[in-house]
Amino acid sequence: MPELPEVETIARELSPLVVGRIIIHFRTDWPRAIRHPQPDQFATEIAGREILEVARRAKWLVLSLSGAGEKEAAPAVLAIQVKMTGQLTVVSPDEPADKHVHHFFGLSGGRQLRIRDTRKFGRLGLYRRDEAGAILGSDEARELFADFGPEPLDASFTVRDFRRLIRARRGRLKTLLLNQAFLAGIGNIYADEALWRARLHPLRSADSLRPDQERRLYDAIRDVLAEAIRRRGSSVDTYRSPEGAGEMQEHLNVYGRTGKPCPRCGRPTRRVVINARSTHFCSWCQRLPAAQRAGAVRELLARR
Ligand SMILES: [Zn+2]
Repeated sequence: MPELPEVETIARELSPLVVGRIIIHFRTDWPRAIRHPQPDQFATEIAGREILEVARRAKWLVLSLSGAGEKEAAPAVLAIQVKMTGQLTVVSPDEPADKHVHHFFGLSGGRQLRIRDTRKFGRLGLYRRDEAGAILGSDEARELFADFGPEPLDASFTVRDFRRLIRARRGRLKTLLLNQAFLAGIGNIYADEALWRARLHPLRSADSLRPDQERRLYDAIRDVLAEAIRRRGSSVDTYRSPEGAGEMQEHLNVYGRTGKPCPRCGRPTRRVVINARSTHFCSWCQRLPAAQRAGAVRELLARR
């Protein structure tokens, strides 16, 4: 599943290929992927718009589009949720497309932006911006990303902000890090990696952290996400950016390494299932305080 670093990599690599191009037409053989507006309207309204910028919010690609035509002059946003098997490419229209390529955007300059998605989990939407630049959701009453927490890599997201957020929470750390309303963009890989770096047990309760541990977790989250972007993401499954596989999978310390030695202490990496998600950690480096052990064991047993 692409997480923040993978979607950020796609955005950065897609940008030079499509910015400045006009979307001439759109066609799809899988209209159910279009969340907003109706598929016919989506195709009509997107045509004639220029791609101004490719950015990311949470795990979504956000393409800013110019206004187009007389009727719909307002600038718009094409939001693409890549999900598990989505791959974006920019190719010549003559290039053969296999049956898993479902969405085609014809671009000015004779190129085509394609979305290939073997499992068809990806989603697309065309949304309006209001005058202040906010992206309006489908009912236009609230922001499209209103339910998402802050971006952990934003320069304005300080350790003070992180402390304020985490002190208002009670759940287990692993579950909390996966909660997109807490922080945007973290998934299973980077939750496990951040907790390992911070030497915090995934079942530790969020409200039990000392100030130094809060700081460690804040640093760990930002460091692992920044490193993963530098390494162009983790290709542990089908993730490919426009320029191919990432290399962060070769630098993961616990994720997917069950039984292999912890790079810090050499003891075997453990795996448990928390909320139906595989969780990898080192039980030596990431100790649970004695007072929380009984509760954590009860919780794990109850979820079997
Ligand atoms: Zn260890």
